[in-house]
Amino acid sequence: MRFIIIFFLLITNLIAQEIKFFGEPKSASIIIGKVDSIKKILFNSGKIKFSNNGYFIFGFDKEDEGEFELTIIKQNNSTINYSYQINKEKFENQELRLSKKMVSPPKKYLKKIKNEFAQIKKARTKLFENNNTYYLSGFSMPVKNVRITSEFGLNRILNGTPKNFHNGVDFGGSIGDSVFAIADAKVLFVGNNFYYNGNFILLDHGQGLNSVYLHLSKNLVNKNQQVKKGELIGLLGSTGRSTGPHLHLGVQWFNKRIDPMSLFNLKLE
Ligand SMILES: [Zn+2]
Repeated sequence: MRFIIIFFLLITNLIAQEIKFFGEPKSASIIIGKVDSIKKILFNSGKIKFSNNGYFIFGFDKEDEGEFELTIIKQNNSTINYSYQINKEKFENQELRLSKKMVSPPKKYLKKIKNEFAQIKKARTKLFENNNTYYLSGFSMPVKNVRITSEFGLNRILNGTPKNFHNGVDFGGSIGDSVFAIADAKVLFVGNNFYYNGNFILLDHGQGLNSVYLHLSKNLVNKNQQVKKGELIGLLGSTGRSTGPHLHLGVQWFNKRIDPMSLFNLKLE
C-alpha cells in the first residue's frame, strides 16, 4: 500500500512539473512558460515561438482587456487550453509644461524624424526572426541607485493637451552614471543623436522580448554584440527630447507595451 501511494505521488508530481508558468496574467505584463514536447502554441489564434527546451513568452499590452486564450498542442496531439481575463488598469495623469519646441518638432526636423522611425522599425522586424531564450538569465535593474522619477503608464498631458501615455520607466540620475543591460541579450540597434531618443540602445532578449535605453550620454556597445545581464552598456544622459538627466527604460514583447517593473519580480527559480 505504501509503495502504491509513493508511486502515485511520484506520478502526479511529474505531471505537475510538466508545465510551469512564471509571471502574472495582467495588463502590461509578460508570462514565461515551460512545457515539454511542444508541437505548436497559439496565443489568441496566432502562433508564438518556443525554444527546443520548451520555453516561450506571451504578454499583454497596457491597453489589452478581455479574454485571451493560450492553446498548447503537444507532439502527441493532446491539447491544453488556458483562458485569461485581463482587466484594464487605471493610471494617473501627469501634467507637464514643456516649451513648444519640445511638444511639436520644428518643420526642419520632420524628415530626420521620419527617417529615424523607419530605421527603428526595420531593426524591430528582426525580433520576429529569432527563437533565443536569452531572457532566461532573469532580470536586474538598469541603474545602481534606483530613483524612479516617472512611472510606466502615466497619462501624459502636455501643456493641457492629452498625449500618449508614458511607455517606460524613468530613472533619475547624473550624467555619466552606469547603465546596465536588464537581462542577457543581443544588441539589435544602436542609435546616435536621434531627435526623440537621443543616443540609445535596443536589446533583443529573445522570442520578441526587447528593452530600450534612451537619452544616454554615451553608447558603449555595438550592433550584434552579445551582452550579459548587469553588463555596462552605456552612460546615463539627457540627449534627445529630455528635460534633464535620466534613463528612460522601455520594454516590449513584440509590439505589446510592458511595464519594465513587472519583470524585476519575476523569479525563474
Ligand atoms: Zn520616460
